[in-house]
Amino acid sequence: MYVVMLGGPGAGKGTQSAIVSQEMNLPHVASGDLFRQALEQQTELGLLAKSYMDKGELGPDEIVTKMILERIDSPDCASGCLFDGFPRTLVQAEALDGILAERGEAVDAAVYIKVSEAELVKRLSGRWICRQCQTPYHVATSPPAMVGKCDKCGGQLYQRSDDNEETVRKRLKVFFSQTVPILDYYRKQGKLLDVSGNLGIAEVSKEILCALRGREAQ
Ligand code: AMP
Repeated sequence: MYVVMLGGPGAGKGTQSAIVSQEMNLPHVASGDLFRQALEQQTELGLLAKSYMDKGELGPDEIVTKMILERIDSPDCASGCLFDGFPRTLVQAEALDGILAERGEAVDAAVYIKVSEAELVKRLSGRWICRQCQTPYHVATSPPAMVGKCDKCGGQLYQRSDDNEETVRKRLKVFFSQTVPILDYYRKQGKLLDVSGNLGIAEVSKEILCALRGREAQ
């Protein structure tokens, strides 16, 4: 199965993608993580990505699509994967359809985790993430037991440099203008599954898994 996870920054895409990919045994392909890895390794792609990430803007479609193509060429993605953060523009959605069509495959479902704009700003401005296992925490709603340390793996927590208020507002603007049109693209194809992201993590996962398993059985 090829699944696309959609949602504004802070909607819980990363958290839910990690859960769903494990439950459904699908490799988790996260474009933002690929960019951050490239940045840590100081590659040319990483340095280019930084300039966009710092401004809360999207990287060029061509570069992101190439990076995703390289990732899904790995044997683990031969029969499916879960895309987190990709596609983010109509051009990317069409490119993904083209890439999968060449393999005789297609996107099976696009999950949209819906969260209000006010809630997204609140979530992102207090977010801390584990450097090791990527588990997110929130200073007000889900703080770690020990300040700065991950409850799950003991890893060090950090704040993403693009989680400051100014960049968050820019990322939201970009989401509504460039990514929201993709919802209609998948809705018209009968592939969009709407899920409320305002519930607790476990409830949201349950809804997503239920919707995807229903789709898989069709
Ligand atoms: P994320 O971790 O998914 O929030 O992504 C962090 C940043 O990486 C975004 O704000 C963009 O600058 C860049 N990025 C990630 N995925 C994409 C994409 N599909 N298209 C363009 N830029 C992306």
